[in-house]
Amino acid sequence: MLVLDFAMADSSPSRAPSPILETLVVGAGVAGLSCAGALRRAGRGVVVLERAHDVGGRCATRRFDGQAVDFGPLFAHGHHPDFLRVLREVDAHPLRDWPRRVEGGGPPCQPGALEPTVRRVAFAQGMKALPRHLAQGLEIRLETRVTALRAFDGGFEVACGEGEPLRCRDLVLALALEQTRRLLRTLEPFPQSAGLQAVLGLFGSVPCLTVLAGYALDAPAPDWDVLYPETSDVLQLVAQDSSKRVAPRFRTFVAQARPKWSRQRLDVPPAQWSRELLEEAADHLGDWAATPLWTYPHRWRYARLSPTSELAGPLRIDFPGGARLGLAGDVFSPGGGLQAAWLSGTRLAGRLTQEPS
Ligand SMILES: Cc1cc2nc3c(=O)[nH]c(=O)nc-3n(C[C@H](O)[C@H](O)[C@H](O)COP(=O)(O)OP(=O)(O)OC[C@H]3O[C@@H](n4cnc5c(N)ncnc54)[C@H](O)[C@@H]3O)c2cc1C
Repeated sequence: MLVLDFAMADSSPSRAPSPILETLVVGAGVAGLSCAGALRRAGRGVVVLERAHDVGGRCATRRFDGQAVDFGPLFAHGHHPDFLRVLREVDAHPLRDWPRRVEGGGPPCQPGALEPTVRRVAFAQGMKALPRHLAQGLEIRLETRVTALRAFDGGFEVACGEGEPLRCRDLVLALALEQTRRLLRTLEPFPQSAGLQAVLGLFGSVPCLTVLAGYALDAPAPDWDVLYPETSDVLQLVAQDSSKRVAPRFRTFVAQARPKWSRQRLDVPPAQWSRELLEEAADHLGDWAATPLWTYPHRWRYARLSPTSELAGPLRIDFPGGARLGLAGDVFSPGGGLQAAWLSGTRLAGRLTQEPS
């Protein structure tokens, strides 16, 4: 298990289980980090558990020879003043209003992302700059996958694979919807479980097969940042990712597939679907685009919420003995996406800092 303490880089892992932690947050995506940060600012003790080797979840950036390429959201967009303030605070080179050059009449990934009233920003260092900013000062245990939950009077026991189970009073699940439902099943039965599963079962995420492709810098540069093809059954979009980078070494493109096409190929070997996706992209870019210097395919099983999936706010469920279960994540705020994830986390923190009546 890795312990990443963004506040104290020198701190060494502590294996002694604390008797009962005040709050455990499962998931170091934007929702979990915003919740944990707000709880910490309110003076609460909070530890974040994350299965991956880094923070960010779907807000993901990968480096190729030092060059960042975003393979989750390409940019953040929103209108809520608090979310926009956080985006301004990120210690990274902002690219305001990216993408400036948009081509094609296909739909953006999130409805409304390109509306004139919505602010957009990307970061030259990659979108992971946002979760890294949110992670500052938090105690985050990486490579810690939560496998089961159990309630006891006054708290929760959280099993992390082979590791020592952790105990806490307040437990926050800040995961993709389907992952939340799966973990909640391990907590059953509790009085609200059937109703909760029924409500959450009304919603769902869509998959997105994504391929990143790198070319020599003298490859042709299209005159757009993002292309949303109108007629393709395959491509949701192609982004010229290198247009976000300062002094790029490669011309890079990101191709994201449409949900239906992705769903049909979830179990197909990546070499096959990434070739098909690039061939489709080459129809728009030119034949040269079918033979990149390198590619990186990524299968997002739960990429974005389906368009009608949204709840008005995060959920807090009170358990016997003063324990509280909180649910945050992009489904727990209107609109979906990064803004919804961030808002759900901060709003849940507000609900957890209210004592039970
Ligand atoms: C290809 C793609 C394109 C997108 N485009 C846009 C866009 O244009 N605009 C927009 O606003 N949004 C977009 N999104 C959606 C946006 O990325 C998400 O809505 C947002 O990042 C969700 O944040 P979250 O914190 O709710 O969940 P996540 O980011 O999924 O965070 C959950 C975290 O929990 C961890 N985890 C899961 N299970 C466990 C476990 N058992 N134990 C411990 N940790 C666990 C995961 O590793 C992850 O880090 C896109 C997403 C993808 C994939």
